This record gives sequence, structure tokens and C-alpha cells, in this order.
Amino acid sequence: MPNKHRVTLIPGDGIGTEVSDATVRTIDATGVDVEWERVYAGAEAEADVGEFLPDAVFESLNRTRIGLKGPIATPIGGGHRSVNVTLRKQLDLFVNFRPVRMLPGLLTRFRDVSIDLLIFRENTEDLYSGLEHEVVKDVVESLKIVTRAASLRIAEAAFQHAAREGRKKVTAIHKANIMKMSDGLFLRCCRETAARFPEIAYHETIVDNACMQLVMRPETFDVLVLPNLYGDIISDLAAGLVGGLGMVPSANMGHTHAIFEAVHGTAPDIAGKGIANPTALMQSAVLMLAYLNEHEASLRLRSALEGVYAEGTHLTRDVGGSATLHEFTDAVIAKLASSPQQAVHTT
Ligand code: NAD
Repeated sequence: MPNKHRVTLIPGDGIGTEVSDATVRTIDATGVDVEWERVYAGAEAEADVGEFLPDAVFESLNRTRIGLKGPIATPIGGGHRSVNVTLRKQLDLFVNFRPVRMLPGLLTRFRDVSIDLLIFRENTEDLYSGLEHEVVKDVVESLKIVTRAASLRIAEAAFQHAAREGRKKVTAIHKANIMKMSDGLFLRCCRETAARFPEIAYHETIVDNACMQLVMRPETFDVLVLPNLYGDIISDLAAGLVGGLGMVPSANMGHTHAIFEAVHGTAPDIAGKGIANPTALMQSAVLMLAYLNEHEASLRLRSALEGVYAEGTHLTRDVGGSATLHEFTDAVIAKLASSPQQAVHTT
């Protein structure tokens, strides 16, 4: 008997509904039995029930413990707090995991370089603690919080994953030459953890140098572990190496809950036109299926996506094709239908 999974689906704003419907179709096409609890957050929820992040979202996530989420619009420089940050904090999703790999056939600037990065970003503190105040008129302070507990658990997650997957090297990224106390604590926690994994090489790189090295020699990096802000910036830099935010998946994980999401925004310029690229959310679904122990389905969906990119005949406009979102999705589903089923382990 196949397992039945319950998953909270948060379609989000803008192109969110389009890319999540497409992703649900592909997950259903893998044959994995998912019962979707669809709940709304963001602009649609605000119009509907007057709240940007209604309680129904938490009620559902507390039942299912797992979510698939589209992008949600965040007002800049005012208004309510980011839904993404609130979900991460309230559900204690302390790991932000982003695997960054090149899809076959994609004509990026780095197409000839072998890029295979696993990024572990601390997700709950640092400058994202939301502690800002005006000290005196025209002087504002933002508090950067770094704790031993949060630093140890992200380092542990990175090294555990590296050990499980046979990865060779973990690089901690920091600015401890300037922020000696906060980033210094983060580094000490990484070093302590590294000492328990002697089979994995441990390196440290200052964040500005890391940016340059990632552009010049991305193939020399393997697993990266970072505090929240550097993690945010480096994740997007790394996404740019493999075709941009429309390509890469993201998983937010804690001890009890996990949310898999696309990291691109709501793309208001193309919303409702049926031309958005659902690859990022479909790649997040690959991670979600593995998390659900549906490894065979996870690998099949990953292979189907790679197959569609390798052929290059059903790609969306943002990656140089002319296919609609539906045509791309149908091509992925056709590949799934023709791929053999076998038991394999994937990440
Ligand atoms: P954006 O990612 O929405 O758009 C940037 C550009 O990339 C646009 O030209 C857009 O058309 C294109 N693009 C993005 N995703 C695409 C896709 N899947 N297929 C094809 N093209 C795609 O970034 P933005 O314009 O800076 O932000 C718009 C809104 O999204 C803002 O309100 C922002 O707060 C929000 N946002 C949400 C998340 C999230 O929820 N994870 C992340 C980033 C931005």
C-alpha cells in the first residue's frame, strides 16, 4: 500500500497560483498519494479574510507538519512583517537548505563549469531578528543576534548532511575579522562541530572573498554554512550561476516542520499570463518528496525536469524558449509517464 501524505499548499501571490497548480500536477503524476490542504496567505488572504497570515495557515501546518509554498508579496520599507520570516520563526525552521546545480542544456554564462553546491543558511536570527529601533532622531539601530544554540544546530545540519551524502568539504562563511563577537561565535560553533567530523575537510572564507571566489571558481566549493544575512545574499549569487532564482529550490526545515518553496518573487509583470516558469517550485517538490521518504518519485521528478531541459524544446521564455507554463508542465508529465520506476536513494 503506498503511503498517504497530507501536505499544506500555500499558493501565494502573483504567479504563485500558476506555478503551484503546475507543481501539484507533476507531484500527482509521480503516483505519490498526497492529500493537499490548500490555505491562503498574502494579498489574496488579506482581501478575503483581512489578514495577511491567517491562523488557518498555522492550523494546517500544525496538522500536516509539511508545506509547499509559492511566493508572497512583501511590502518594502514599512507595512507588516514578511510572511516568510514569520513562518520560519514561528515554526522554528532553522535550516534554509538550497542545493544549487546546473540543469542540462541551460545556456548560462557558467554552462561549462561543474557547479554542485549545497547551501545551509541559518534561518532564525542574525539581522533578521526584526529588532530595530530609532536611538535618537535620524539614528536607527538594527540588532544582529547570534546565539551558540542556533549556530551549533545549523553547523550540525550542514555536517550531518555532508557526512550522509559523502560530501568532501564544508566552508563556513563569515565576517569575523570585523564582527569579532557575533561572527566569531558563529565560527567557534562551526569549528567545534567540524572537529566531530574529521573525515570532512573544513574551511573558512570571509564573505566578500567568498563572493569573488564563487564567481571565479564555483567548482571549488562543496557544502557552505552561513549565518542568515550572508546566506541570503550568497544563495542568490549561487542561483545566478545556474540560471537564476527561477531554477533553484529551497527547503526550510526544523525539528518538527518543513516548508518547501520557490525563492523567486511573485513576478507581477507576468502574473496571469500563463508564461511563468514553474521549475523552482518543481525542484522544491523534488526535495519535498525526498523528505517524505518518496525517494524513487523524487528522483523520477528530478530526471523528468532534467530531461525536458536537456531536450530544450518545451522551455519557457525566461530561459530562451517559447513554451507556456502548461506546455512545459505537460512535457514534464510526459517524461514522468515514460520513466521507469526503480528504488533509488536521492537527496
Ligand atoms: P520577482 O522574482 O518577482 O521578479 C523579478 C523578475 O524575474 C521579473 O521580471 C519576473 O517576471 C521574473 N521572474 C520571477 N520568477 C519567475 C518565474 N518563475 N518565471 C519567469 N519569470 C520569473 O522579484 P521582485 O519583482 O523583486 O519581487 C516581486 C514581489 O515578490 C515583491 O513583493 C517581493 O516582496 C516578493 N518576493 C517574494 C519572495 C517569496 O515569497 N519567497 C521572494 C522574493 C520576492
